[in-house]
Amino acid sequence: MKTHAQAVVIGGGLVGCSILYHLAKLGWSDVVLLERDELTSGSTWHAAANIHGLHDNTNISRIQHYTMNLYKELEAETGQGCGVFQPGSLYLAQTEAREHQLLLQEAKARYYGMNFHKISRDEAERLHPLVNFDGIRCIMYEPDGGNVDPSGVTMAYAAGARARGAEIHRFTPVTATVQQPDGSWIVETPKGNIQTEWVINAAGLWGREVARLAGIELPLMPTEHQYFVTETIEGVANAGRRLPSVADRDGEYYLRQEGNGLLIGAYEKDMRFWAEDETPGGFGHELFADDLDRIMDNVMRAMDRVPAAAEAGIKRVINGPMIWSPDSSALFGPVPELKGYFCCNGIIPGFSQSGGLGQMTAEWIVTGESSLDMFGWDLARFGTWADKKFTKARVQDQYANRFSIHFPNEERSAGRPARVRPAYEMQKGMGAVFGLNCGWEHPLWFADEPGVKETNGFTRQNWWKPVGREVRMLRDSVGVLDISNFANYFIKGPGAFDWLDQLLANKIPTEVGRSCLAPLIGVRGGVAGDFTVTKLAEDEYMMVGSGLAERYHRRFFDMVPLPAGTTFENKTDVICGYNVAGPKARDLLQRLTNADLSNEAFRFMRSARITVAGVEVVALRVSFTGDLGWELHCAQEDQVTLYTALVEAARELGGGPVGGRALASLRIEKGYGSWGREYSPEYWPQELGLERLVKMDKDFLNKAAYAALMDRAPREQLRILAVEANQNADASGGEPIFLPDGTPAGKVSSGAYGYHVDKSLALAMIKEGVAKPGDAVEVYILGHPHKAVILSEPPFDPSGERLRG
Ligand SMILES: Cc1cc2nc3c(=O)[nH]c(=O)nc-3n(C[C@H](O)[C@H](O)[C@H](O)COP(=O)(O)OP(=O)(O)OC[C@H]3O[C@@H](n4cnc5c(N)ncnc54)[C@H](O)[C@@H]3O)c2cc1C
Repeated sequence: MKTHAQAVVIGGGLVGCSILYHLAKLGWSDVVLLERDELTSGSTWHAAANIHGLHDNTNISRIQHYTMNLYKELEAETGQGCGVFQPGSLYLAQTEAREHQLLLQEAKARYYGMNFHKISRDEAERLHPLVNFDGIRCIMYEPDGGNVDPSGVTMAYAAGARARGAEIHRFTPVTATVQQPDGSWIVETPKGNIQTEWVINAAGLWGREVARLAGIELPLMPTEHQYFVTETIEGVANAGRRLPSVADRDGEYYLRQEGNGLLIGAYEKDMRFWAEDETPGGFGHELFADDLDRIMDNVMRAMDRVPAAAEAGIKRVINGPMIWSPDSSALFGPVPELKGYFCCNGIIPGFSQSGGLGQMTAEWIVTGESSLDMFGWDLARFGTWADKKFTKARVQDQYANRFSIHFPNEERSAGRPARVRPAYEMQKGMGAVFGLNCGWEHPLWFADEPGVKETNGFTRQNWWKPVGREVRMLRDSVGVLDISNFANYFIKGPGAFDWLDQLLANKIPTEVGRSCLAPLIGVRGGVAGDFTVTKLAEDEYMMVGSGLAERYHRRFFDMVPLPAGTTFENKTDVICGYNVAGPKARDLLQRLTNADLSNEAFRFMRSARITVAGVEVVALRVSFTGDLGWELHCAQEDQVTLYTALVEAARELGGGPVGGRALASLRIEKGYGSWGREYSPEYWPQELGLERLVKMDKDFLNKAAYAALMDRAPREQLRILAVEANQNADASGGEPIFLPDGTPAGKVSSGAYGYHVDKSLALAMIKEGVAKPGDAVEVYILGHPHKAVILSEPPFDPSGERLRG
C-alpha cells in the first residue's frame, strides 16, 4: 500500500467507488480507496437499485439524469456489466396535487431536454398490461427509468477507477484519521498509514463513526427498510419484454419487475430506527428479520393496483439498513471547520444519484468548487443545533412521508422547536406562524389568533391573505420584521479593513458610519454571497450576511488569513435584530430615540450606534423591503424589550409585526435578489446585476476567476416578470419559462404575489438573446402555461425615492 496519496476515499460502497472513479477521470490518479470488507458491504449490496431521473429540485434532476445515462457508458468503458434494465417508469397521479407535481416535472423535463412526458391510459395499458389504472388522473412516462445491478455498478466504477491508476484496498478498515500541523491527514489502517491532502468520508452506514475519527458529529440516523420479491407471475413471465416500473407515490410503495416476478417496496408509517447511537463495526452482509406486517397497508394498495401481484407467493424478503440526514438529502461538501475533509453521506437514492454525486465531489476537490450549486445538499446547512433528538424526529418524518409531496413553502413540524430566541413566546402569543430558519424558529406570518397552523399546497393557502395584509400595512404605514435570522460578524483590530478588503469585491467603507453592499466571489467567478459591511469604529466593522449560509461562508472567510492583532467573531447566536420599514418607519423610531433620524442627519446606507427604547443598537439605514427603513441589531437579552416597544409604537401608527413571507413579497416587488434563490455561485455578477459592486481596481478573493469571465456576455439575466396568475396560484421557484412558440426562455428563481402593486410576480433567470423586457412569455405554474410579461423595471419604487426619502 502506498504511503502518500492526493486523496483517500473511505468506503467502498456505490458512492465511494463513484467518487474514486470521478477523481481519476478528472486527472487525479494518485488516489486510494479503503474498504474495511468487500466492496458493497454497506447498504449497497441489498438495494432494490431503482433509478429515476426527475426530482422536484432542478440540480438534483440534473445529477440524476447524468447518473442514469452514465451506467451504460460505464459498461462500455469498463466491460463490467451493470445489469442495466431501462424498460421505463410509469408515474401515476391519484390526486390533483400529484397531477400538478407531475405536470410541473414534465414542463421542467421539456426545458432541460430530459425524457419525461404524459401518456394516455391506452398507451399506459399497452406498456404495462398488469396495472389497473382506475382512479388515476394523470400518467407520466420516463423511458429511461428502470433499475441496475447494485454490485455490477459498484464494480464498474471500481474498474474504471483502477484503469485510470486509482488503487483500491479491500479488507482495510480505517481506524484513525489524524490531522497534521500542515493540514494534511494521516489515515491509519492495520495495513499501514497513508498521508493525504484530502480525506473523503463515503462510509455510508458508518458515516457517523468515520466522522467521529476526525472529531465531528454528522446528523445521520439509520432506519430499517423493506422490500420483497414474488415468485414467478405468469403475466410477467409471458410479457415477452421487461415491464416498466411503477411509481404510484400516492399509494406509498414502489414496484418493478424482478426476474419473472415483481419487486415491491414501501416506506411505512410505522417505521423502525436501527443503531441509533452507533452502527456496529462488525455488521456487514446481514439483514434484519422480516416484518412484512409493518408494510402490509402499502402492499395491499400495490396489489389493488397490480392484482397479479397478489397471485404469487413471496420468494425473498429484504429488510436492510439505510442511513438518513434530517431532510433526506445528502450531507455533501468539505467540513467548514476542517481543512481537507470532505463528506458525501446520508444518500438515500444512491443508484439514481451516485454518478452526479461522484462528479460533484471530484469537481469540488480538484477545482475548488462544483459546477452545479449544491447548497441544498451542502452539509453546511446544518449546525450543531441539528442534534440527535432533532435528527431522529426529522428522519422519522422523512421516512414515513418519503413519497408525500413536498409543497413549496412547506414547513414541517417534526423536531421543532430546535432553537428559539427570547421573543419566541411573545411572538407565538401574537399569532406568529413559524418556519425553521437555520435551526431558529422564525415568524413567517401573523394569524389573527395564536395556534393557527398553515395549510400546504401548490395553490394559494391560508397564509395568502394575512400576508397580503402585512405587506399592505408596511407599505402604507410601518412594519416590524424580525431579522434575527441574519448572520452577524464582527471584525476588530488594526487589520480589519485589510481583511474585508481582501475578502469582498466592493470597496470597503473607510469612514465610520458608512455601509456598503459587497459581493463575495466564488472559486469559479460566480456570486458566492452578498454582505452589508458597516464601519462601526476606527478599527471595527460589522458584516451582515445570510444566516442560512453561515457555515458555507466560513469556508471563504478561512481562505483569507486574518492580519496580526485582528479578530473575527461570529456573533449570530447572541445578536438579534429588527427591520423597521415603511413610510412611517422614521416617525416610529423617532418616538423611541433621541438620535436625529432626519434624512439630512441619517442618510441611506449610513449607520450609527444609538439607543432605541433604552436599548443600545447598531442602526443601519437599509431595508430589504425596498422601503424607507432601518435595521436595528441588538444584544439577544434586549430582544423582548426592543420588540415590545417597536410593536407598540407601530400599532399606534397603524402598523404592526410582519413576517418573513411578507418580506419575500416585498423584496420581489422591488426586484431584490436573495441568497440561495437568485444569488448562487452558478451565476456571474453581470447576470445578477451585481457587476457595479465588483471593483477591479482592488484585490479580492477569487478576483482572477472573475477577471476571466467579466467580459463575457451574460448567459442569462435576472429579470422580473408580471404573471397572469389565473389559477389561484403564484410562481414559487423552479418553474420553467417558455416563449409562446415553445422555445425554452428561462426559469423562475423566486415568486410571490406583489400585494402592494397588485400583481403576481416572479424573479427569473432569462436566457440572453431569447427574451428581453417587454416580451411575452409563459410561466409553467401548476404545470400549465401562464401568460407573463418581462418588466423593464421593478414595479415598486424603481427610482428608489421611498428608500432614500
Ligand atoms: C432495502 C433497501 C433498498 C434500497 N433501494 C434503493 C433503490 O431502489 N434505489 C436507490 O437509489 N437506492 C436504494 N437504496 C439506498 C442505497 O442502497 C444507498 O443509497 C447506497 O447504497 C448508499 O451507498 P454508500 O456507498 O453511500 O454507502 P454503503 O453502501 O453503506 O457503503 C459504505 C461502505 O463503507 C465501508 N466502510 C465503513 N466504515 C469503514 C471504515 N472505517 N474503513 C473502510 N471502509 C469503511 C463499508 O464497509 C461499506 O462498504 C436502498 C437501500 C435499502 C436498505
